[in-house]
Amino acid sequence: MDFEKQLQFEHLAPMIGRTPLLAIDFTYRGQKRRIFAKAEWYNPTGSIKDRVAFYILQQAYERGEIHPDDIIVEATSGNTGISFSAIGRYLGHRVIIYMPDWMSRERIRLMESYGAQVRLVSRAQGGFLGSIAMTEELARQGGVYLPRQFSNPDNTQAHICTTGEEIVQQLAALGLKADGIVAGVGTGGTAMGIGKRLQKENPSCKIYPLEPLSSPTLSTGYKVGNHRIQGISDEFIPDIVKLDEMDDVVSVDDGDAIIMSRMLSEELGLGVGVSSGANFIGCIMAQEKQSADAVIVTTFADDNKKYLSTDYAEPQPRKEGYLSNDVQLLGYTAYRF
Ligand code: PMP
Repeated sequence: MDFEKQLQFEHLAPMIGRTPLLAIDFTYRGQKRRIFAKAEWYNPTGSIKDRVAFYILQQAYERGEIHPDDIIVEATSGNTGISFSAIGRYLGHRVIIYMPDWMSRERIRLMESYGAQVRLVSRAQGGFLGSIAMTEELARQGGVYLPRQFSNPDNTQAHICTTGEEIVQQLAALGLKADGIVAGVGTGGTAMGIGKRLQKENPSCKIYPLEPLSSPTLSTGYKVGNHRIQGISDEFIPDIVKLDEMDDVVSVDDGDAIIMSRMLSEELGLGVGVSSGANFIGCIMAQEKQSADAVIVTTFADDNKKYLSTDYAEPQPRKEGYLSNDVQLLGYTAYRF
């Protein structure tokens, strides 16, 4: 990579990662509990995907796979596109994003605000898989760099080197090692990457991939359904997901996830997105599998601002069997480098 580009990466690097680790105290069915979550909305565009976009582009420049006048073209359910838009533009690239047309309006507006061109893909045009096919089609013209987040090993590597590494250090400062990681699976980079790094510290650390109860693609291998946890369960099992290297899939009802994310906001002032609420519920499920005091870690991938036009903004009916019915939030402690 030329010196000028290297400097651009160096100047941006302090903006990415080194997020607070939150120790959240609560009771579940009257029993005292604690889980740990990385506050990933602290990244510059407001999600964990800034880590991935930064790392993928840096590695692509190192290996000479991207040229300064290439157009960056990616398929995404939102956050990755927002990150590539901002970081791509920072580096001087044109950015084109293909996205299913049922994602929140805020996502489209945000990408456009970062100077990207957004192309929406309907279900009839193939939805998610259609979006990916369209990026490959465009790339055949040449002058295009495809990050290919669903199959690029640097996606996982970004979480091994940064998110996972930080969790190991932040837990070690508290005298702890993780017994399990729960992460909603979009590309699977978060679950695989953090999981691999935590298992280096504690080989018996379990990796629990999380999916919406109404879209059980990981647990059935093929079923796809409607759900309201944007950013996860994108209609197929991505290449970087290695189910044989993970433990039990945890399935969360999207209504339970919305209620939990609203509770984190209303009661603790943690304005997190819907997948964060799902991950919180998944952590309780992991503790139910292990023990009430198991050290279970997750990520709060983004904040609630991208969901204000969705069901998240309205109170949801509490249904029988929701875990959130039995949760009482007590408070949290933030640990930052
Ligand atoms: N939550 C949200 C809000 C996301 O945007 C994403 C990424 N699409 C995820 C969770 C899942 O992350 P990963 O792609 O690393 O599996």
